[in-house]
Amino acid sequence: MTPTLAERVLAGDPRAVARAISLVEDEDQASADLVRSIFGRTGRAYLVGVTGPPGAGKSTLVDRLIAALRTQRPQGAASTNGTDTAESERRPAPDQRPDSAALAAFAFPVTVGVIAVDPTSPFSGGAVLGDRLRMQAHAQDPGVFIRSMATRGHLGGLARATADAALVLDAAGTDVVIIETVGVGQDEVDIIRTADVSIVTLVPGTGDDVQALKAGIMEIADIFVVNKSDREGADRLVSAVEANLALHTYASGEWRPPIVKTSATSGAGVAELLDAVAAFRRHSQAAQASRRKARSEYRLRELVSQRFMTHLERDVLTAGELAGIVERIAAREVDPYSAANALLQRAGLKAGPTGAPSATTF
Ligand code: GDP
Repeated sequence: MTPTLAERVLAGDPRAVARAISLVEDEDQASADLVRSIFGRTGRAYLVGVTGPPGAGKSTLVDRLIAALRTQRPQGAASTNGTDTAESERRPAPDQRPDSAALAAFAFPVTVGVIAVDPTSPFSGGAVLGDRLRMQAHAQDPGVFIRSMATRGHLGGLARATADAALVLDAAGTDVVIIETVGVGQDEVDIIRTADVSIVTLVPGTGDDVQALKAGIMEIADIFVVNKSDREGADRLVSAVEANLALHTYASGEWRPPIVKTSATSGAGVAELLDAVAAFRRHSQAAQASRRKARSEYRLRELVSQRFMTHLERDVLTAGELAGIVERIAAREVDPYSAANALLQRAGLKAGPTGAPSATTF
């Protein structure tokens, strides 16, 4: 019997992974079925979020991280050429993998998946320029999978599509999934929330750094990277981030985000960055469970809200009716609470927190 797509993903077939990611980019029954089939076999990959302003050097840095993760060898083990040994021989089957231990201990060659979320890309599901360059460098390496996601055209939200793509890579036995996003908007914050560790990349002398700090990215950063540290102003930026961190009092035992200086073009500081990631992972082993729980709750709430809205718009309201209600709210003819209650009632649910029938009806 021909194996199903889910079975092929679980067997680590890269073409199936590519196909599955295309599928989960659209939220429909097929993608829901796929996620259901693989979900029980996920939760092992370590998710690394990398964000920062455009041009900060994220792609260059991620490229360096891939190379470092692919060449790191167990201590004392003979170095092997990463490209000529059959991947299946070197890599334990997903079932035998310890939970993300690879990253903490680099116990064996780490397989890497990259999801590059590019808001400027008009392409969907295809490779954009940065990826093409990277793909060339890693094309021969079966332990690396790179995929870009455009931000437009995702039903049900980009954060969901990204999280599901990470699930696919996870199910396929990928040890480390790097999620690279641009900027500091709500989409990015939502995406970075899906990661186990969040790396915020800043660069000296652009002014973006200060903006990034203001935009609340401070709260989501587990590690700060000051890239392009070969440039003038790197130390000043480190001090600015330090000063910002100093505003917060860290309880004893609480993680204080380290600031790692890198120069992605030369590779300087990349080993230190990986050390910081490994240190964070060790530190947050206990916290990781609650982080993953928070993530599960967030995803569930998001999915139910979004499903409800889809149901409302598609099955309950007539075309354009929601837009009309929105207009009435904007015109102050009806308040949003009454409108929400009336909509819940239309959908056959109890209206409002008290459950009393809504005075407003549509
Ligand atoms: P991204 O938009 O954040 O992904 O940035 P890229 O990785 O595409 O890098 C933008 C530009 O900065 C490229 O021309 C890189 O070669 C350059 N760049 C990246 N890292 C460094 C660095 O550490 N030092 C210097 N001087 N240039 C860098």
